[in-house]
Amino acid sequence: MLTESTTLLVIGGGPGGYVAAIRAAQLGIPTLLVEGEYLGGTCLNVGCIPSKALIHVADEFAKTRHFAGDSALGIKVQAPSIDIVQAVHWKDGIVTKLTSGVAALLKKAGARVVKGFARIVDGKTVEVSPADGGDPWRIGCEHLLLATGSVATALPNLPFGGSVISSTEALSPATLPKKLVVVGAGYIGLELGIVYRKLGVEVAVVEAQARILPAYDEELTKPVAASLRALGIEAHTGCTVRGLNAAGNAVRIRNLAGEERELAADRVLVAIGRRPNSEGWGLETLGLAMSERDGSAVQIDTQCRTSMRNVWAIGDLTGEPMLAHRAMAQGEMVAEIIAGKRREFVPAAIPTVCYTDPEIVVVGLSPQDAEAAGIDCLHAHFPFAANGRSLTLESSAGFVRVVARRDNHLILGWQAVGRGVAELAAAFSQSIEMGACLEDVAGTIHAHPTLGEAVQEAALRALGHAIHV
Ligand code: FAD
Ligand code: NAD
Repeated sequence: MLTESTTLLVIGGGPGGYVAAIRAAQLGIPTLLVEGEYLGGTCLNVGCIPSKALIHVADEFAKTRHFAGDSALGIKVQAPSIDIVQAVHWKDGIVTKLTSGVAALLKKAGARVVKGFARIVDGKTVEVSPADGGDPWRIGCEHLLLATGSVATALPNLPFGGSVISSTEALSPATLPKKLVVVGAGYIGLELGIVYRKLGVEVAVVEAQARILPAYDEELTKPVAASLRALGIEAHTGCTVRGLNAAGNAVRIRNLAGEERELAADRVLVAIGRRPNSEGWGLETLGLAMSERDGSAVQIDTQCRTSMRNVWAIGDLTGEPMLAHRAMAQGEMVAEIIAGKRREFVPAAIPTVCYTDPEIVVVGLSPQDAEAAGIDCLHAHFPFAANGRSLTLESSAGFVRVVARRDNHLILGWQAVGRGVAELAAAFSQSIEMGACLEDVAGTIHAHPTLGEAVQEAALRALGHAIHV
């Protein structure tokens, strides 16, 4: 068996692992990254990037269909159609560009990449079965960084296979179904449910909780619920799934009153959450402290240290929030700590963006969060209906809301819902991370006409003197 040793061994080349490897190598740490499937991980290959690419395709197609009808803009389009194979090919091109970019960045920084499946032997040794079928390697290391990500959760009565698919298959369809049932009205279910609907598919969404996007506060989700209705997506909330019918062409669901019905489907997307990928690669041999409801996530401290010395864990493997930017930030930090820098993962806020139509952004505390934390706060919102830029973009739904301490006006949180608000996440995060007060944002000249003016106006309104509302 081949043997090798390195200072830092990273298992998993997703946003967490590849960023850690690049930064560590930049800092001169001998680094080896083992990736079993694809560099870039879930995010670049079957997650963030491909989903946003298909959202763009669906938006553009929806526009052409809109213009084929009676458009107030005077634009006329005749009988638009979608070539889904070409659309998937375009999406794959973006993925390839980005994943080969990651490979080039790792190489440039001086990190070695081994393509193969890693299995833990002990806290300082990993066995790798190379993807090309060659002899297994044993790699010894001083520091072991676990970044194996997460996997889609299956429904026992609706297991993956045949017409029942996860987001991975939903992102690379060879054909479009006529009727799609989506189980789970969370991030994936709604982002992709809307994509399929805009591409002309009949879509029904089944959600166990009483409303869509139950993780977000209700006021934020109302414009999304209205948009689902306008798009013609049926939302069956408060319903559980019983399984496929005998013919396999419908999903049986049951509501809270115990009534059952069938939803016709020639494809079913199950998107009920993801769980840390903590099984099947020898993690249990380390006997690490685990966390989360079902004990599937590796427990970490604020430096991403596990319960074993010099074994680190980052990203989805460590549980919620399962977001690429969190994984990247943790990866960069771990590399710097190993290089001797003093770092801690204590962000003032981690932004979340839901790419529905309209989009939702949440950074920091909502009014309810602040109240639950016993903080006396001010909050104010500014509607996009009063924002000139929104009107010129034909999108007046939604608002920006700010939450601040009543005593010193320190901003604690931002929430926004509306078309294009994802891009406000940077301004929101910066203001919170920099400890801005309402006066700082209200006193900053925001360019006109932009959606960002709604940010300034929300701060002005919280101070009691909004101009445009
Ligand atoms: P991953 O990206 O999952 O990478 C883990 C890597 O480890 C994989 O490449 C895997 O092959 C490898 N691996 C696992 N086990 C082994 C082993 N034993 N040996 C070798 N290699 C191994 N997040 C956002 O922030 N924004 C979004 O818009 C967004 N959209 C998403 C859309 C979808 C459809 C999905 C599914 C997820 C989305 N996410 C989004 C979540 C995001 O993809 C994850 O939070 C992120 O990829 C986590 O990064 P990670 O490095 O922890 O793990
Ligand atoms: P999610 O947690 O966002 O949503 C799952 C939904 O399924 C919830 O609303 C839940 O109540 C519902 N549900 C659970 N069990 C159910 C059942 N048996 N029947 C019906 N409904 C049920 O999970 P997801 O959409 O699968 O996404 C997984 C993770 O991926 C997210 O937590 C997020 O971290 C990440 N993600 C992020 C983005 C983004 O940042 N824009 C996009 C996609 C995915």
